[in-house]
Amino acid sequence: MKRRGVAVLGATGSIGVSTLDVLARHPERFEVLALSANSRIEQLAEQAIRFRPRMAVVSGSDDATRLRDLLSERAPEVTVGHGIDALCGAASDPSVDVVMAAIVGAAGMRPALAAAGAGKTVLLSNKGALVMAGEVFLSASRAGKATVLPIDSEHNAVFQCLPPFWHALDPQSAGQGVARIVLTASGGPFRDWSPERMAGVTPEQACAHPNWSMGRKISVDSATMMNKGLELIEAHYLFGVGPDRLEVVVHPESIIHSMVQYDDGSTLAQLGNPDMRTPIAHALGFPHRLDSGVAALSLPELGRLHFEAPDPGRFPCLGLATEALRQGGAGPCVLNAANEIAVAAFLEGRIGFMQISEVCARVLERQGHGSAGADIEAVEMLDDAARALARETIDSLD
Ligand code: NDP
Ligand code: MG
Repeated sequence: MKRRGVAVLGATGSIGVSTLDVLARHPERFEVLALSANSRIEQLAEQAIRFRPRMAVVSGSDDATRLRDLLSERAPEVTVGHGIDALCGAASDPSVDVVMAAIVGAAGMRPALAAAGAGKTVLLSNKGALVMAGEVFLSASRAGKATVLPIDSEHNAVFQCLPPFWHALDPQSAGQGVARIVLTASGGPFRDWSPERMAGVTPEQACAHPNWSMGRKISVDSATMMNKGLELIEAHYLFGVGPDRLEVVVHPESIIHSMVQYDDGSTLAQLGNPDMRTPIAHALGFPHRLDSGVAALSLPELGRLHFEAPDPGRFPCLGLATEALRQGGAGPCVLNAANEIAVAAFLEGRIGFMQISEVCARVLERQGHGSAGADIEAVEMLDDAARALARETIDSLD
């Protein structure tokens, strides 16, 4: 069997590390050809020494020099590159079959687009590509004949529960027999906190998720429920379903990862222990099933599962994302940019937890009504403008 060549972009992050864990279980199926990182250069060097990729990519030239030094004795054959062109080059390299797009935030958009345009199997973890540039990403995928497989646990669950012929890239199939898509949300660490207590949340508290171990940005998004809002937008693009057929239900145990309800009254759900190696292994092996290292679920041990409707008052970010989705056009991109800036300001201790939604609401109100960027340059301009406005808004709060 020919091994599939894999590029792991964002290899040092939470998803990257889980991906390498799954890949290491199947050396006969996969060959790691490229790895990338931003700031954790020592960790990337260790990964490169272990997996022996052909390419390792970092952001800055100084870091590239440092990485070359670190690899000079133990893995001198690894080609070290830096910057966005090297990253896009790794994503579209002819030797690469599968690209794990797991760079956090807007920085991950161009490499994901490069992989899609080059017709790769794109394991899409980065939310930016769809939220900022949904149409642009989907048309690049269609043009490149890419296969896009969702990694986010909710979308991966939905993908597993949809009929096999369903795919957003084939608009003809959209809508057949599917009544609703129900995304589950853990509700984050402050699910039952009062609004007064939530106002005083610290970055450390927001980053301590009860069920999932994740990067800092997505942990904060999970605590504000903006993460679920961005996931509604992702689901819209991935599955071709409008906001009226998308629903969120709070499920604190994170065992049911999402559901699809059909016209005949059936609800299909995907269940599993909350460990990202399951959706990663699903997408890596698709359509086959691979061992992921995740323990099987024991329902008797769990005993009960709980569900409730989300509280829009305490989680205004969810409402903002739904509004951005209904608004369409620039809305999702502007919201995503404002949120990235607001979350960074919160993590730096510059604004309070509940001010994240305030910043997003103000930026969306002022800048979310235009049309979506028609190409990547237009998307980046829109994103830059929304970030500038978010910074201005934050300064005005000080
Ligand atoms: P992490 O913050 O743990 O990792 C992010 C990765 O991106 C790291 O490898 C980091 O490098 C790299 N990176 C950061 N900034 C840049 C940049 N400017 N240029 C190039 N590379 C950069 O994030 P996660 O792994 O948690 O998440 C990755 C993506 O997957 C996000 O979009 C997230 O929303 C999504 N996701 C994550 C889930 C999870 O459970 N973690 C679940 C579902 C989706 P370095 O560490 O070296 O700085
Ligand atoms: Mg998710």
